[in-house]
Amino acid sequence: MSNDPTIFEQIISGEIPGRIVYETDTVAAFLDANPLAPGHTLVVPKEAHERLDDLPDDVAADMWAAVQSLTPRIESVVDADATTVGVNDGSAAGQEVPHVHVHVVPRFEGDGGGPIHAVAGSRPDLSDDEMDDIADEIESIE
Ligand code: 5GP
Repeated sequence: MSNDPTIFEQIISGEIPGRIVYETDTVAAFLDANPLAPGHTLVVPKEAHERLDDLPDDVAADMWAAVQSLTPRIESVVDADATTVGVNDGSAAGQEVPHVHVHVVPRFEGDGGGPIHAVAGSRPDLSDDEMDDIADEIESIE
């Protein structure tokens, strides 16, 4: 990964403008510049880690705590009915900024959007054996 500060580090340091809505020693949150809905917020670790798996456990816990605390606050400010929370973890999943960020996207009845189930391509046709093998393998990895 490049040593240049990511766009999100530049927002946190004040180098470029951003609408910061939450900040602790380890985590910050700011409005997405191209919102999918009013109140669309990005929750990020202050240090740039590219993938979820790169995050230290304590920072990951802090990040999730921020998501949990911010979600109802954002919903109330924009009068949302619900929220979709998601991470594009890796470029094949649509990650464009190489600095972990959780999208908190307020949702409204009849907003025309879909559930998380709509993000993947065609669904695989997996047998029970294949499902068992995948589950066993995931469980066996430390
Ligand atoms: P990704 O596709 O990596 O999950 O999402 C990156 C997000 O960062 C996008 O939703 C995009 O709108 C947002 N973004 C990109 N550049 C900036 C910026 O300079 N400021 C803010 N606030 N958001 C940005």
